[in-house]
Amino acid sequence: MWQVVGQSRAVSLLQRSLEREALAHAYLFIGPPHVGKMALALNLAQALNCEAAEPPCGVCDSCQKIASTKYADVQIIGLTSNGDSAEAKPRAEIGIDQIREMQHSSSLPPFGGKYKVFIIDGAELMSIEAANCLLKTLEEPVGKVIFILLTVNERLLPATVISRCQRLELPPIAASEVEAALNSGWGIEPGKAKLLAGLCHGCPGWAISATLDDSLLQQRAERLNRLLDIINADYEERFTYAAELATQFSQSRAEVQEVLDLWLEWWRDLLLVKVGCNDAITNVDQLATLLEMVRGYTLAQIKAVINSIQSAGEQLKQNANPRLVLEVLMLSIPRRKEAVRGNLTSIRYG
Ligand SMILES: [Zn+2]
Repeated sequence: MWQVVGQSRAVSLLQRSLEREALAHAYLFIGPPHVGKMALALNLAQALNCEAAEPPCGVCDSCQKIASTKYADVQIIGLTSNGDSAEAKPRAEIGIDQIREMQHSSSLPPFGGKYKVFIIDGAELMSIEAANCLLKTLEEPVGKVIFILLTVNERLLPATVISRCQRLELPPIAASEVEAALNSGWGIEPGKAKLLAGLCHGCPGWAISATLDDSLLQQRAERLNRLLDIINADYEERFTYAAELATQFSQSRAEVQEVLDLWLEWWRDLLLVKVGCNDAITNVDQLATLLEMVRGYTLAQIKAVINSIQSAGEQLKQNANPRLVLEVLMLSIPRRKEAVRGNLTSIRYG
């Protein structure tokens, strides 16, 4: 049974290739972070090495070892390869040394499995030398060796590498599908499954991580509470916050973008509540706060804030002065007289 959540198109294509013994020598899985690229790659590696009649069974010794990345014939190459020691410093790129080592290993027969599978996680992070070195390997296929490249952005890969792989796009999947999988596959209670399914934006890996690591939801709670504080704050406090975010931006652009995405999602939810589509909101655990807050704003005000957040995000991408952009954003959020505060910190998940 294929364990990956969703991705039925990719799964059926791979299944057919397996049945016809018409596998490609190299695959390129393209999709956003946490959509299931690694899950599908490991599933394919299981299907190739499974000992059961209907692979991948998920329970035989090979399948289990592959799932826990402890199978000698399935190797993962990335910024932290499974060959690196735990203390090794994370790399900034996938280097030519890693690809050469992989080439050497691919020239040896399997240790005990049927196929050798090499998964390159974050293929766009290969150095130019590494990519050129990989190209030589892809040009000279050897039997029983399969390469699977995973990437979030294929435009960062040389066209020559892409042309030698079978491309498979893994799109974000429907929230209902993630919710069902969290319910049935991971035994997550319905309320939390619905919340995580909405928050993960079609990328179930994030939702699964959040079921194992409470800090992800805790971080969301802190950021949302900060947003609600800012809505009630005076301009001085807002400008202090803008300066904080601008400093954060110089250290991690992605983190500030995550904050903006969270805000955007909140105001979209307010818009949905305003027009009576309560069932369509993402922050399902915050309906009461949204209902209370929405009374203080007109539809036009909510739409204007959404536009301001979107435009701030765009300007930051175009390298505008972050402090200026964030200050303008702070000015654009209408103040409310009554304080509204979410009850996020009091919620217990799971
Ligand atoms: Zn198996």
